[in-house]
Parts: sequence; structure tokens; C-alpha cells
Amino acid sequence: MSKLVEIALRPEDAVRDEQIKRAIKAQTSYQSLDFQYRIKRRSIDARGRQVLVRMGVEVFDKGELLPPLLALHKQIYKPANDSKHQVVIIGAGPAGLFAALRLLEYGIKPVVIERGKDVRARRRDLAAINKDHIVNPESNYCFGEGGAGTYSDGKLYTRSKKRGDIRKVLEVLVAHGATEDILVDAHPHIGTNKLPVLVTDLRETVKAYGGEVLFDTRVEKLIIRDGVCAGVITHNNEKIEGIATILCTGHSARDIFYMLHEQGIHIEAKPFALGVRIEHPQTLIDTVQYHCSGDRGDYLPAAAYSLVTQTQYQKVERGVYSFCMCPGGFIVPAATAPGELVVNGMSPSKRDSKFANSGMVVAVELDDIKEFSKHGPFAALEFQKSVEQNAWAVGGKTQTAPAQRVADFIQNKYSSSLPDCSYQPGLKSARMDDVLPDMIAQRLRQGLKQFEHKIKGYTSNEGLLIGVESRTSSPVFVPRDKETLQHITLKGLYPCGEGAGYAGGIMSAAMDGESCALRIAQGLGLAAVEIN
Ligand code: FAD
Repeated sequence: MSKLVEIALRPEDAVRDEQIKRAIKAQTSYQSLDFQYRIKRRSIDARGRQVLVRMGVEVFDKGELLPPLLALHKQIYKPANDSKHQVVIIGAGPAGLFAALRLLEYGIKPVVIERGKDVRARRRDLAAINKDHIVNPESNYCFGEGGAGTYSDGKLYTRSKKRGDIRKVLEVLVAHGATEDILVDAHPHIGTNKLPVLVTDLRETVKAYGGEVLFDTRVEKLIIRDGVCAGVITHNNEKIEGIATILCTGHSARDIFYMLHEQGIHIEAKPFALGVRIEHPQTLIDTVQYHCSGDRGDYLPAAAYSLVTQTQYQKVERGVYSFCMCPGGFIVPAATAPGELVVNGMSPSKRDSKFANSGMVVAVELDDIKEFSKHGPFAALEFQKSVEQNAWAVGGKTQTAPAQRVADFIQNKYSSSLPDCSYQPGLKSARMDDVLPDMIAQRLRQGLKQFEHKIKGYTSNEGLLIGVESRTSSPVFVPRDKETLQHITLKGLYPCGEGAGYAGGIMSAAMDGESCALRIAQGLGLAAVEIN
């Protein structure tokens, strides 16, 4: 019978089989190192002066058969070649791809429609944004195969409490090429260099089991028949029908929100968050988080952080927090249309760039943007757009981004020079007060001052603010019925993933895609209905 043992080792010992076995032996009645083990959980504990790697380990007697770490294999999918039913999925991000795969578990045929290009072709458009400042509105850091999650850090954690669903999504990713480490690490990530291969494999599975994936195909209208969504009409006027339509178009598909409104489908303005990206030398973050003198050694990953505080402006409290932190990463231009400037972050799997970047954002409630209320359901979207367009103008009307050193921002001084930065299109020195609305800039200033108490040097002039981080979550909410997951008034339409307001990252979007697919399978009597 196996037993679970908790051990803690120095980072250099945590990678050595013998050291791990010695630590296990000290906690058990084993007299020798003649046993087997499997790491089930791993996390870094940097609370004390000595950084430790904590592991939950399952220990087995010598010769005992180890159960497979990965329970799930591609055999769970059933061919859908002669499926009577077809489901239309708009968008090939994590929500769309995981919805497609889940439908295939029941032999239901998914047709995934994606406005952007496949991951390989998409790369050229990303190079064009970075080098030539050309934003292709169909193919960019948000649009294209794999969605916004492809050229990202690939962080795979979520605040969701659905442990079983989280494990399932991670196992699907491992079955498609991710390393088994993601099943073990407390804060798993994949890295932008590995994601395209994985996304390609997810798509190939969809196709291999009878699903269809259409690229360069933009959905422009829903087909509504007898009050039910019966499919979509694409930009080349092709009608694609299905028994259900899952809307997984992400937070940046503004044309989809306008389309829903024009077709009389209820949508609502939604609070979101907005601010800047902040970048520091990675050594500064390592020094503070690992209590070292800049060199974290060969065994610790680039250190991360998570910061949150409350601030006041005109007597109204709002949160300021770090968002999507990318250790050892790069800042990227994430605009989806010409005439706007948006930044975001990504990291390679080794997280080995010399910079640490993170979103640093302020919560925006609808009460804060009353002057935009005339735009109805587009109030938050129009506010977001206005800030992005202003950043573009201040940056010089290219993808060159406005930037200011952190200490200069706090002291309200223009930066006479800017430090090295990972943002490829280049920077222009500017005052963030000219880029951001006053309520955002003032709260950021307060928040940053408080964060200096947590990370010494955070507000020094080694830190850099780059504008603007505005695509934190969807500015529009597409309401759905809690039980059926269908739109509250339009049957047959399943609002899904981040764009509709039901996810905030790769994992939660993937899980939401799975949930919508499951409801469809249940509706067809192909999946059991769980009783709570
Ligand atoms: P999306 O991934 O946005 O996918 C929507 C898809 O729909 C897109 O491919 C788009 O082209 C397509 N589409 C839109 N309109 C149409 C249309 N009219 N017709 C056809 N197709 C359409 N999250 C994390 O959890 N970890 C991270 O490390 C992380 N890093 C990120 C880094 C960057 C640079 C960015 C931009 C985002 C990052 N995120 C990260 C956020 C994460 O990518 C999203 O939360 C997630 O991808 C949302 O999934 P989704 O499927 O709901 O939507």
C-alpha cells in the first residue's frame, strides 16, 4: 500500500533522486533507499531565509506497480464522422478548443470557426506588429489559433475550486504534449515557445476524430430561426448551421458585441480593470523574493510576485493589483486594431529573459465611468477604447508605447531617459498622467507606494511603467441561464469563456468550454446529468 509523505528540501537537493529518497526515509520506517516514489505536488516556499522546495510524495514498496500518473489518453474521444448532430463553435481559443474536444467525447461533431490564422501563419503577423507596427485586425496576439493564450506565459492556475475539472484540463494538455510537471507544480506554466506545438496537436485531435476547424473565417451574424440560434453566417456569406452555437470569441472581439446588440440579443456593460505593465530587472525581484544578492543560482526559477491593495480616490475605494505576472518574460503589443495601443506579457518556458513584468491595474466599476453610460452596454468598452486610443496618440501613433520610470511617475516627473526594456516595438518617454484618466493614475500612485513596503526597490527608477494594460477581462457580459448555460433569451446560443464574462484565464476558459459542451451532450441524452 502506498503512503503519502511531505518533505522539504533545498532547491539543489530537490532535483536529486538520492536526496529525495533520504528525506522520505527520514519520515518513514524504511531502513534503506530500496523503495519507489512519485512526486504528487511541488511548491516553492520562500517565506524563510532558506528557500525550500516542498513536495507531497507518494511512496511505494520496491516492486509495487506504480499507477499511471496520467489517467487520460486520447482514446476518450469518439469518431464523429457520421454524427447526426453538429455544433458550431465560434473561436479557437482555450474555451473553443476544449468545448470541441469535450463534444468529441460524446461523438458530437464540432465545427470550430476561427477568424485568425493557424499558429504558424500567425507568427508572421506578430512579427509585423513588433517590427513594422502593423496591426492585422484578424491575426494578432489575441486573434488566431489558440486564441489569446497561445503567445502568452501559459500560466495554468486558476482561482476556481473545481479540482476535478482542473485536473482534467491539465491531463488533456499533457496528453497533447505538455510535460507532466504541470500535474505536479503548484504554479504550472507552459511557455510561449511550447504552446504553438501543443495547440496544433489539440487541433489535430479535433480533426482526427471528425471535427472541422476553419481558419480565416470570421463570423458576422447569427442565424436566428423561430427564436432559436441555428448557426452562423460568415464574412464570405457562408451559412453554417448546428443544433447549438457556442460563442467563445474572447474579450477583444468588439465586433461580436456590436453584432449581438444589433441582433437584439441582450448584453450588459461589465466592470473590468485597467492600468499599465510594470517591468523590473528580474534580479531585483529575485533578490527580494529569495532573500539573495541577485543571483538565484541554478535551481530556482525566476521569482514571481502577487500584489494587491486598496486605494482611495475622491472617497471611493478601489483595488489596485498585479495581474498576469510574467517572470523572465517579455512585454508584447496586444492591440487588435490599428489606432490603439495595448500591452500584455508573455514568457518562454525557461522564463530566462532578464526582465520581470506584470500588469498593474486598477479595478474599474461602472460607477467610475458614468460619463460613458450613454453607450449603454458598451459603456466599459468605449471607456477602454478611449484609453487605448489616447495611449496610441501619446506614444506617437505607432506601436511605440508611452513609458515612464516608476519613481518619476510617483514624483510626477518626466523621465529624461528610459532603461532597457523587453518591449520590442520601442518606447517613448511620456507622463502616465497624460495617458491614463486621473482616477487610474492617482490610484496607481497610491498602490505602488504601498507595494514598495512589500518589494523593496519596486518603486525605484529601475522599474518602468508602460501603457496601457486594458484587456484584463471582458468589458461586456453576455448573460446565460445558470442551469442550461444558454443565453437568457436566445435558446441554442451558449455564451462561453472570457469574452462572455465566464472566465479569466486559460484554465477557466478551457473549463467553461467543457461545461458548455457537457450541457449540450446532456441535452441530447448522450451524457449523464449530475444530481447535486
Ligand atoms: P480567446 O483566447 O480570446 O479566444 C477567442 C478566439 O475567438 C480568438 O482566437 C479569436 O480570433 C476568435 N474570434 C473572435 N471573434 C471571432 C469571430 N467573429 N469569428 C471567428 N472567430 C473569432 N491567461 C492565463 O491563464 N495565463 C497566462 O499566462 C496568460 N497570458 C496571456 C498573455 C497574453 C499576451 C494575452 C493576450 C492573454 C493572456 N492570458 C493568460 C489570458 C488568456 O489568454 C485568456 O484568458 C484566454 O485565452 C481566454 O480564452 P477564450 O477561449 O475565452 O478566448
